[in-house]
Amino acid sequence: VRTLLVVLGDQLAPDHPGLQGLDPTQDHLWMAEVAEESRHALSHIARTALFLSAMRHFARERRDDGFSVHYRHLGERPEQTLNDALRADLEHLQPQNVRVLQPGEHRVLRQLQSACADQAIPLEVLDDPHFLVPLDAFRKWAKGRRQLRMEYFYRKQRTALGVLMNGDEPAGGQWNFDADNRGHFGRDGPGLLPPPLSFPPDALTRECLDDIARHLPDLPGQADGFDWPVTAQQAQQALDDFIQHRLPAFGTYQDAMWTDQPWLYHARLSTALNLHLIHPRTVIDAAEQAWRDGHAPLAAVEGFIRQILGWREYVRGLYFHFGEAWHEWNALEAEQPLPALYWDADTSMQCLHQTVGQTLQLGYAHHIQRLMVTGLFAQLLGVRPAAIHAWYLGIYVDAVEWVELPNVVGMSQYADDGRMASKPYVATGRYIQRMSNYCAHCPFDPAEALGDKACPFTTLYWDFLDRHRDRFARHPRTALQWKHVEKMDPDRLQAIRDRAGELRKTLAQGDRI
Ligand code: FAD
Ligand code: SF4
Repeated sequence: VRTLLVVLGDQLAPDHPGLQGLDPTQDHLWMAEVAEESRHALSHIARTALFLSAMRHFARERRDDGFSVHYRHLGERPEQTLNDALRADLEHLQPQNVRVLQPGEHRVLRQLQSACADQAIPLEVLDDPHFLVPLDAFRKWAKGRRQLRMEYFYRKQRTALGVLMNGDEPAGGQWNFDADNRGHFGRDGPGLLPPPLSFPPDALTRECLDDIARHLPDLPGQADGFDWPVTAQQAQQALDDFIQHRLPAFGTYQDAMWTDQPWLYHARLSTALNLHLIHPRTVIDAAEQAWRDGHAPLAAVEGFIRQILGWREYVRGLYFHFGEAWHEWNALEAEQPLPALYWDADTSMQCLHQTVGQTLQLGYAHHIQRLMVTGLFAQLLGVRPAAIHAWYLGIYVDAVEWVELPNVVGMSQYADDGRMASKPYVATGRYIQRMSNYCAHCPFDPAEALGDKACPFTTLYWDFLDRHRDRFARHPRTALQWKHVEKMDPDRLQAIRDRAGELRKTLAQGDRI
């Protein structure tokens, strides 16, 4: 074997850049399903099935193209890590060199480096053109800046790539339509929603589900509803379906939540994007074209493109910019364990019951559910960042460390000391009440911090402000929010502290709220 191209489970573009210049007669591909990858952060069945199925489809297509693919199936060598599996195969294949695309997790790169170093085989790490902003360009942008704010990064990319621009000006004369994009469904709810295009398991996906049941029987979550795109062709169909039916209302309702409605107007494209089944530029161009054709309003299209060209590229840049430090940060000294309800949805708090229940069922929750329900509760409670990170990394179908870690440790937990968000995203239960109908079915009252009906979010919010006064009360960006706790009656504040302490104790010992 001349070159051995290692193809990782989230690098499945049919035009994988590592294939360039390869000759099927002397260059081979290597892929491995490694049980440890589903265990090191306990991975949802649907997440594992998605990766395995997309990998098996990719391998089949490349074999059809004439390549030899050395493919290690789940259960073949159950004890092996990625490192062990590659090392064993390098020993008998003896390639002249190994090639891989920049992995989306530092740990994986270390494993590959170690396996190659052991056999003294050179490892070539290629830049990943499946992103719009090369890591070097991000580093250049970040250099010398005191704060790395998404908004400025996003505007720069819009200009550089000519996305939603009229000459040098942003389309519509403004960069940001956030004010138009905070709608909720009021009392009547969303009405009849356009059901997203579904991709039920084909024979190859069913084989993956059977293999998981056999070799990884203890994974969390359910697989019955699995319907994610697993090929590039399906990813394109999922994009077309979103643009046609949901993009026009995406902006208005992107922050809204509703009981038993997991998809609303969301794209369901993160899995296809993260596995490289579709290129972000394809997605962005299709959205921009929908606006230019008069099919979708500018506010919706800008709101959507901001997520992909802005947030998605920005968090990737941040992940590599700060490196392993992301794992160490715990700026708010949070030490609580993750409550058991995150694994079984067994709680009378409706917002959490719904969001975690849906997550266990589908491996999916949309952004505001992740940020302002599961993320907010963990932050207010003071859950250890490493524990909440492990949950998010395992439980969401679209989780890959480069995107999950900054979103969790930075945006949602503020454990990065404000490197990402200018202030903690904290709110009382009233925010959830405004953006959803969860509170209407809940025994608690989001307006109450004390008493039998006190909403745990609201109690813990005031307690959070109190616990972190020193850090935020005198900061210009947060002083206004903290002013209210400074003025609170000391007896009431003490009662809130006591109640928050009881909540923490109850949850830490595994009891339910
Ligand atoms: P839509 O709401 O329709 O958005 C369109 C696309 O924008 C998404 O497909 C995604 O590619 C991109 N996007 C939106 N927000 C973000 C963001 N904050 N960061 C990066 N990309 C974004 N996204 C992941 O892909 N993997 C994760 O592991 C992940 N973990 C998250 C953890 C937390 C605590 C939070 C707050 C957000 C997380 N996100 C993650 C971002 C976001 O929640 C998901 O991308 C989105 O819910 C996926 O569903 P969708 O495709 O229907 O997205
Ligand atoms: Fe969640 Fe509080 Fe609303 Fe209940 S009252 S759904 S716990 S925010």
